[in-house]
Amino acid sequence: MTTMSAATASLTERYLEEAERYSAHNYHPLPVVLERGEGVWVWDVDGNRYLDMLSSYSAVNQGHRHPAIVAAAKEQLDRLTLTSRAFHNDQMGPFLRELCEASGFDAALPMNTGAEAVETAIKMVRKWGYQARGIPEDKAEIIVCEDNFHGRTTTIVGFSSEAQYREGFGPFTPGFKLIPYGDIDALRAAINPNTAGFLVEPIQGEAGVIVPPDGYMQQAAELCRENGVAFVADEIQTGLGRTGRFFCCDWEGVRPDVLIVGKALGGGVYPVSAAIADKEFMDVFRPGDHGSTFGGNPLGAAVGMASLRVIRDEQLSRRSDELGSWFMEQLRAIPSPHVEQVRGKGLMIGLVIRESSGTARPFCEALEQRGILAKETHHQVVRFAPPLTVSRDVLRDALVEIADVLR
Ligand SMILES: *Cc1c(COP(=O)(O)O)cnc(C)c1O
Repeated sequence: MTTMSAATASLTERYLEEAERYSAHNYHPLPVVLERGEGVWVWDVDGNRYLDMLSSYSAVNQGHRHPAIVAAAKEQLDRLTLTSRAFHNDQMGPFLRELCEASGFDAALPMNTGAEAVETAIKMVRKWGYQARGIPEDKAEIIVCEDNFHGRTTTIVGFSSEAQYREGFGPFTPGFKLIPYGDIDALRAAINPNTAGFLVEPIQGEAGVIVPPDGYMQQAAELCRENGVAFVADEIQTGLGRTGRFFCCDWEGVRPDVLIVGKALGGGVYPVSAAIADKEFMDVFRPGDHGSTFGGNPLGAAVGMASLRVIRDEQLSRRSDELGSWFMEQLRAIPSPHVEQVRGKGLMIGLVIRESSGTARPFCEALEQRGILAKETHHQVVRFAPPLTVSRDVLRDALVEIADVLR
């Protein structure tokens, strides 16, 4: 075995060794070490440039270091960053007003990470179930879908159907019922008098960009309404323009009872998330019921406000719609023996590699060699989700490389 001397090891190798030695091994990243980003581009420590086709799982819809978001952050950094919710600050109110106006709801409860906003929605729906629906104490049920991804807290992984997410982390929170995704009859059969809510992703991103049958969200919302069940949409990944609409639910004219947002709400600059709902649901929370030291802090609020404005002012939903359908068509037109399917909505696209061609990982590694960063999800799927600020020309160049790799 040879050891690399510090002089001959590339910078990348040295950073990889350090991360390997000092970090927990809870991820399996591509071996690229990034040090700078601008718009759709990122640069590694050896000076190579890459097109970011993952956008941090859609947290960077506005592009890296969007000037308006960075400016808002810098300005706020020079004024006030944290008050805790023990006091008011002058950023949270305006931010939540813009968030509520953009999404069409009465009120929003700000948190930081996506998982926290999901937990907030779960607590909201359970308490609403007891208060408004009279569900007997500790009997509230929430229906969730197989192959869901809603985050990594113990309660959330407890209702995952992915063995690895759960293994070794029990015991888990009771009160969740799993049904197949996209199956409206299964939802109908699962609802009972103790069902408080149905929590669902409009497209399952982490499961491999699974798009449910047309009409599913609409029928599910209808079924929930008929039965007095809260319809909860996790739009942490699908929301804020990613799928070609402001929210993916907009594709079917669905208005959920509770809407969960995160990721791009912080513009890739700062973690900002929220559970959004009308008063009927939000008012179950009284002082002391729920909270977060950092949720609603002025820095996050200023960043969130700027992030929302960029999506609106640059019409990123429309860009995503137009470029996404064109890009998907182009991907489908690539003659490749390895591609089983290309699916998605807007710029949330999954390219499925045939099992006979191996896993998606080597394709992602080959793309990395050609300056395109994409990450495999669930073994067979390469996800393409560039920042929504991407141009057609940049995508056209990327297609040349992608086609080469797929042939
Ligand atoms: C990323 C994600 C989450 C969790 O968000 P974190 O910020 O990682 O806690 C929840 N739901 C969906 C659909 C996601 O994509």
